[in-house]
Amino acid sequence: MVFLIECILNQNSRDIGAASYKAMNVKVINLCMKYHVGMVQIPCPEMTCLGFGRERKPGQSIRDILDTESGRRCCADLARIVGGRIKEYIASGNKVLAVLGGNPESPGCAVHYDGDTGRKLSGQSGIFMQALFRELSRIKIDVPFLGIRDCRSDWLASDLQSLELFFRDR
Ligand code: SF4
Repeated sequence: MVFLIECILNQNSRDIGAASYKAMNVKVINLCMKYHVGMVQIPCPEMTCLGFGRERKPGQSIRDILDTESGRRCCADLARIVGGRIKEYIASGNKVLAVLGGNPESPGCAVHYDGDTGRKLSGQSGIFMQALFRELSRIKIDVPFLGIRDCRSDWLASDLQSLELFFRDR
């Protein structure tokens, strides 16, 4: 199985104007179906921490507000829940292949690597993804984080190709 961000399965969770598809990213879903990979939806951290309207002061970005003490705490709380769920699945004999994150500019879910090993996230990553990475490290779970960049068709094509190779190898 993979743990994937809420908006891959439901683009309606995105901020107004940020959806790339009308309802869902069918290409990612089809790939999971093709390789019989279960999908566990991670609740959208922006909606969890800020509500659907992403309430914030004028001039404040979503990242600004997620990157505050209370925003980081909220992301850490969600990361603990998701980390606990991943741990339970693994303890029950399931194979969690990856965490699928979001676009490079996503305040909550961007995936950027620190170095070229592809195993450590940098501070450019979304605030929630960093929290989840820390939580998984804390509970000693090593699961790769893969960005699914659907804001550009060429990036998505490249990410789908990598994901298919990744699934094929497992
Ligand atoms: S915060 Fe994450 S799950 Fe929510 S809309 Fe943005 S990329 Fe998707």
